Amino acid sequence: MLKMSKIYLIDVTNRDGVQTARLGLSKLAKTMINLYLNKMGVYQSEFGFPTTRHESRYLRGNLKLQEMGVLQPIRLGGWIRATVEDVENTFELVPAIKDLNLSISTSRQMINGKFRGTKTEEHILAMAMEALDAARARGAQSVGINAEDASRTGTDFLIRFATAAKEHGADRLRYCDTLGCDNPLTIYDTCKRLAQETGLDIEIHCHGDLGMAVANSVAGAMGVIDGGQDAYINTTINGIGERAGNADLVTTVLALKYSKGLAKKYRLGQPIHLSGAWKICKYASYAFGVPISINQPGVGSNIFAHASGIHADGVLKDPQNYELFSFRELGRGDPEVVETGREIASGQYSGISGFRHVMGKIELDFETREDAEEILELVRYANVLAQKPLVTDELRFIARYSEIARELMTMIPLNEPHL
Ligand SMILES: [Zn+2]
Repeated sequence: MLKMSKIYLIDVTNRDGVQTARLGLSKLAKTMINLYLNKMGVYQSEFGFPTTRHESRYLRGNLKLQEMGVLQPIRLGGWIRATVEDVENTFELVPAIKDLNLSISTSRQMINGKFRGTKTEEHILAMAMEALDAARARGAQSVGINAEDASRTGTDFLIRFATAAKEHGADRLRYCDTLGCDNPLTIYDTCKRLAQETGLDIEIHCHGDLGMAVANSVAGAMGVIDGGQDAYINTTINGIGERAGNADLVTTVLALKYSKGLAKKYRLGQPIHLSGAWKICKYASYAFGVPISINQPGVGSNIFAHASGIHADGVLKDPQNYELFSFRELGRGDPEVVETGREIASGQYSGISGFRHVMGKIELDFETREDAEEILELVRYANVLAQKPLVTDELRFIARYSEIARELMTMIPLNEPHL
């Protein structure tokens, strides 16, 4: 029987999102993002950079949450360069890591432009295969091979690269439209051919430089499915990513669900709970300090707002006249309390009485004063790192998983042993 190919989502907010110029997240915020993605049913979170020293404790802490069943069933994938050295460093710094994406540039532009004539396509191929062998030898559970600038790489070379990668144990090829120069027709054709000729699952990584990140991701996935393989789409929350950003998570899911006739043939491998959309988008907006635009699909403030006579009349008679989906589906419509009077917030200089007040408001009580003091100290540190009041879910997380929170927030100076 022919395999029924499906679409899975790999969110890269904690990798592409945080490497964006002027933007970043605290390790606690990255952890919250992983928790929210898990709740929404996202297949994998690319949760960080295993060879970057200041990530080690965060990555290990999140893998512990996975072991504890808190971050289940989501997979947590690390992003590294496709070199043996990066693979070795990864397993030294984050021994429990199971899922990896190994990245290397494949276009002539980048091979020549980055390596300045010292490397050829053959060198790239050899380096990537050695790195794959090393990752497999170290016991990685899944390994994706990432072709950076794939959209400017000759398809014949990509096919050679992917076929060799499959022989060396790669589970997926990540097709990166690094500069966002593909369009839905070109990416459909290339991804279909790649899937057909390599028999490898294809991951699609698109950028929005020409405003087509979501359209390209969806079209690419359609190509992969028509080519007989599973498709994995890379998304970020609110589309935050390098330059013009990546394919927005919520918009991508909406497109897969509501684009004309699409869902009949192209199905998600596991359900995505859009009811978590409002929460995750609001949280990411707050954590990154980047407002959600009023016309952002699904979660913008204008998406369910109607003013003009014909539209208002039509939507009041039947919402489906002017709304493609319901606000309830996106977790919208519940009242939110905005404090307009006295407010006690958490902060890096909080004291015990204000802290107990804040925690009491979210119905978290402590048995002893010592317990409260201990959590308060962690909350102070979390505030130092976030530089803004913590949200309720963060406070709950710290109170519930205080040991993990302690690990996440510990930074080791460069001149000291890393473990
Ligand atoms: Zn990217």
